Amino acid sequence: MIKDKNQHRTSLSELGEFGLIDHLTKNFKISKSSTIKGIGDDAAVLEFKSKQIVVTTDLLVENIHFDLSYTPLKHLGYKAIIANLSDVYAMNAEATQVTVSIAVSNRFPLEALEELYEGIHTAAKIYKVDVVGGDTTSSTTGLIISVTAIGEASGEDIVYRNGAKPNDLLVVTGDLGGAYMGLQVLEREKQVFKVNPNNQPDLEAYTYIIERQLKPEARKDIVKLLKDLKVKPSSMIDISDGLSSETIHLCKQSNIGVELYENKIPLDPQVISTCEEFNIDSTTIALNGGEDYELLMTISQQDYPKIKANPNFTVIGYMTEKERGMHLITRAETLIPLIAKGWNGLSDQE
Ligand code: ADP
Ligand code: MG
Repeated sequence: MIKDKNQHRTSLSELGEFGLIDHLTKNFKISKSSTIKGIGDDAAVLEFKSKQIVVTTDLLVENIHFDLSYTPLKHLGYKAIIANLSDVYAMNAEATQVTVSIAVSNRFPLEALEELYEGIHTAAKIYKVDVVGGDTTSSTTGLIISVTAIGEASGEDIVYRNGAKPNDLLVVTGDLGGAYMGLQVLEREKQVFKVNPNNQPDLEAYTYIIERQLKPEARKDIVKLLKDLKVKPSSMIDISDGLSSETIHLCKQSNIGVELYENKIPLDPQVISTCEEFNIDSTTIALNGGEDYELLMTISQQDYPKIKANPNFTVIGYMTEKERGMHLITRAETLIPLIAKGWNGLSDQE
């Protein structure tokens, strides 16, 4: 498991709040022309000319959304940004700025926050967004992180959840279930570590799925690809809660039904083998796992030729009239109603 590698523990009280903010944000540079004023005043100032603005926010609470016994702080910072950018891309918009707010207890030395901010900085650099503000406060025990992401798009490019039509194709990017199975492996190693702290886990066979859990990426590339292919999805959502519940969101908001084919769901071989090892059904994981940060969209059948040769996209079903309901067609060709948290009773329907 991840040990505390910090030799040095500088108490946060040595810096004071303003010293801390300065220290953590001194390397952040402004790169977007829409950022007029970033960190340092009472508010950031942004200018977007004729664009529409999308805003999204997420709150991450220690031991609810992350477990620091196997999550390196650098990865946590990175993932906190990714989770928000994914929501911006799901609107078919370009992410431009983020704000980051943290509440920390005195359990965390400066070095821990430096690590967190290294991850934040790396994600901001790779995804080309400016960190333009935030807030810093104390908490009694755990760590809390809130990120707000801001993005821009022309009004006609923005894709909502409610535009899907019957006969549209249901399309997903990448593959599903990896993040959840990565988490299962990490949880198992945590239990093993508790019993025998000298046990060195061999995680070689799980590198892809652990990376999907600890260092996910957001599909910025898909927003560009869709533009290049001249495809505007009729609806889109990011997969943070699992394929099943996101598909239901698209259906309900678009007031239509769906037929989703079990045998079309894209799975990485490592997800399949790890599911076998854990004796879990891989379809259940893809439907309910979550945190994959892939994009789920519907496209008009006319656009199918534009995407069919592209390995980033998999057609997994098609939309129907509302009256036909929302179903998974299994490999045995039986129809099973889609429910928000699994069709085989993994947990209760929402
Ligand atoms: P205020 O008293 O108005 O809340 P602060 O002293 O908290 O202002 O913040 C000063 C500046 O630093 C502001 O630009 C704010 O957005 C930014 N800031 C504060 N905390 C953070 C943080 N954790 N990460 C990034 N920027 C921050
Ligand atoms: Mg403040």
